Amino acid sequence: MSLTFKAGDLTIHRIIEQEEVFLAALEMLPTLTPDVLAENRAWMQAAKALDANDVLILCFQSYIVKTPHHTILIDSCIGNDKPRPTRPKWNMKTDDTYMRGLAAAGLSVADIDYVMCTHLHVDHVGWNTRLENGRWVPTFPNARYVFGKTEFDYWMGVHAKTPVPVIEDSVLPIVEARRFEAVANDHQIGDHVRILPTPGHTPGHSAFRLGRGKDDAVFSGDLIHSPLQARYPEMSMKFDVDQAAAATTRRSFLERYCDTDTLCCTAHFPSPSVGKIRRWGDGFSCEAV
Ligand SMILES: [Zn+2]
Repeated sequence: MSLTFKAGDLTIHRIIEQEEVFLAALEMLPTLTPDVLAENRAWMQAAKALDANDVLILCFQSYIVKTPHHTILIDSCIGNDKPRPTRPKWNMKTDDTYMRGLAAAGLSVADIDYVMCTHLHVDHVGWNTRLENGRWVPTFPNARYVFGKTEFDYWMGVHAKTPVPVIEDSVLPIVEARRFEAVANDHQIGDHVRILPTPGHTPGHSAFRLGRGKDDAVFSGDLIHSPLQARYPEMSMKFDVDQAAAATTRRSFLERYCDTDTLCCTAHFPSPSVGKIRRWGDGFSCEAV
């Protein structure tokens, strides 16, 4: 299985933390019907996106992109030592899978110049911090952390009303360490990194467009979770905060990159997770390269 991709002058590494059964397809995708599931079962199983019990299989991973100027980590996955009582496979885990993945890519935590989060959900910010002598400290000691301002403000508002553990242990320690920037949608890093606002899953969700002057690769975060939603872009998922906006965002994103050379790096599609968007009837597929 390939964990490294080239696109233009970018080198892209996948750092996989888990690839696991997640939720039953019919539960995760509320508008999916048993008939449509039956029509798609064979190719979904062949793609290892669905198990024999109709449970969706998701990959949980970070991407690390080397541009000629910077090393950028996109979405910091699940993390260790974090209380996540509703998710037994994430709760207080202590494995070294993620750090071994980083080392296998020839990288250390000190190499990361930027950490960028597509949104501030639990499986995208976990390794922002690590536990050191009972305190949460930034995992990547030399990195600036970049969050979208709309997303950051949204979660600060939610957290002010009812404390959100993930904000407490994986976002606020970065703010307190003065390592973060909450950026507008026109923010760029050099001539290689641009933001594509993709609201719906969360209000300030962003995709990241990387490449010098053109999108050699795009990192889609959670605007899509399963290849079944590429086939049927209107199929929103249970945790999309605004289901209608998520559907509109998903179709326009897939249309934007359909039949282009842009490498689409999804957060949660099963391995290889990365491909090029091609038309499939009224929907799309992500074709492995
Ligand atoms: Zn996610």
